[in-house]
Amino acid sequence: MLTPPQRNILPQVVDPRRLVNQGVILTGEINPDLCIRLAEAVVGISEPIMANLIFDTNEQGRKMVRGSASTTVLMTCQRCLEPVERPLAVEMALGIVWSEEQAKSLPREMDPWIVVDEVGDIAALVEDELLLVLPFVMYHPEGQCNTATSHSTDDELGGVAEENPFSILEQLKNSSSDN
Ligand SMILES: [Zn+2]
Repeated sequence: MLTPPQRNILPQVVDPRRLVNQGVILTGEINPDLCIRLAEAVVGISEPIMANLIFDTNEQGRKMVRGSASTTVLMTCQRCLEPVERPLAVEMALGIVWSEEQAKSLPREMDPWIVVDEVGDIAALVEDELLLVLPFVMYHPEGQCNTATSHSTDDELGGVAEENPFSILEQLKNSSSDN
């Protein structure tokens, strides 16, 4: 088993079957410039897109990629229309297959990753997985919207706070007795 090189930015494309044979684990960042669909689906991508991809075989000898990916995106709050942060995290377990036809033979719990030839686009793979967990609509937590209507109640308070002449007399009496 080879020790994979530690990289910060992962390559866009790999030969996943070769990586399986080598038992490679890729850990690092996906270049956000390669994730146009995700970028266009949100207001912005505010944290690095981190991925941990383990290339190996399962008990049945099936070539797989397992792992996780995460980032944080900014979405539009549908209540106040201001940006709201949404962390995204996804676990994946995909069978590496050559075709749609072969994908159908995968166990039900396993998603296919169709890789024709030796070119597997891991940026697109991670982006696809993150798009799957992207919510349709997003809101700030209750009461935390930026246009929360907290109009000042100064007028009311002013009315209540008006000095009662009797309380002033009370204060005078108290202060004189203190002396
Ligand atoms: Zn809001």
